[in-house]
Amino acid sequence: MLKIRLPRDVANAIADACRRAGTRETGGMLFGEHVGPDDFRIVEATVEGMGTLAGFLRRVGAALLRLESFFRRTRRDYQRFNYLGEWHSHPSFALQPSTIDDATMFDIVNDPETEARFAVSLIVKLDDNELAGAAFTYYPPNEREATELLFEA
Ligand SMILES: [Zn+2]
Repeated sequence: MLKIRLPRDVANAIADACRRAGTRETGGMLFGEHVGPDDFRIVEATVEGMGTLAGFLRRVGAALLRLESFFRRTRRDYQRFNYLGEWHSHPSFALQPSTIDDATMFDIVNDPETEARFAVSLIVKLDDNELAGAAFTYYPPNEREATELLFEA
């Protein structure tokens, strides 16, 4: 099982985006650092705005610019720093992927352009103003796996 570490500063940024979005969904991309076998730390979460997960992915132009800026900052050390997946909020329902969420993530891992071996979907919500989350990893062609999510201090 993959392990995903969510550091406090990234969790705070995601929680702030959820507060701003209120009852609407929000989300963006996740960039990660490979810290060990099957072990990744989220180093950055972009906030793409409101809408559905599929909606975020349609804004491909903006997303590619952010990818490029991330790779420049991490000196193109792709083995260590890379695209990890997507996050989005479920403000008023369970931390479980919807049918559309699953379809969107399988589109990403099966897209020959992305060359992703896997992608993580982080689903979050504010629970009494505290960030709660659940993570799922998608593998081509159609495997979804529960993923350990560690909130770091
Ligand atoms: Zn969803």
